[in-house]
Amino acid sequence: MDATVGDERFYRYYRKIRLGLRLMSHGARAQTASDWSGLTLDQLVTLRKRWMPGAEHGFRGPSPTSYKPFFRSALKASHAAMFVGIHRLIGIDASKPSLEGGEKLCEAFEIYREWEPDAHLEFDYAVLLATRVVKGEEVELSTCARCGCALLLDKLKIPQPRCAQCRSKSDKASPRRHRVPSH
Ligand SMILES: [Zn+2]
Repeated sequence: MDATVGDERFYRYYRKIRLGLRLMSHGARAQTASDWSGLTLDQLVTLRKRWMPGAEHGFRGPSPTSYKPFFRSALKASHAAMFVGIHRLIGIDASKPSLEGGEKLCEAFEIYREWEPDAHLEFDYAVLLATRVVKGEEVELSTCARCGCALLLDKLKIPQPRCAQCRSKSDKASPRRHRVPSH
């Protein structure tokens, strides 16, 4: 009995370490890695020194709190929507940090990176997206009314039912439609 409990505790501790390393390898900030893995900042620093001596990215500064950057460009918006879609497919409530939630976040991020290797979605922004969309407070995942692609909606603004690409297509198309014939 004791051995089973011991195994369970060891297994959970091992999972924490694995998750901590995985989070740091994705460039998660220290506090984010600590929140989701359950390891202390000191434990993470030790792990980092031991296993990731050459790593430089991330791990500094406060976590982002604004989701506005996702709506600054059509490309960012579509990448963000794709990540949220993948995270949703993996299917877990990640509204607050947990070991399981952290593992799923990493899984979604890894799939996303495989899918879009050139995309620049910082891990902490991915966390922000995942947690905010789960809460459904300010951003929501929907689909474009025209092409059906994943679409992120800014709930604090007037909802745009079409993605930026479809909007720009119809913007370009409409002046032609209304062009006055030269004779
Ligand atoms: Zn569209």
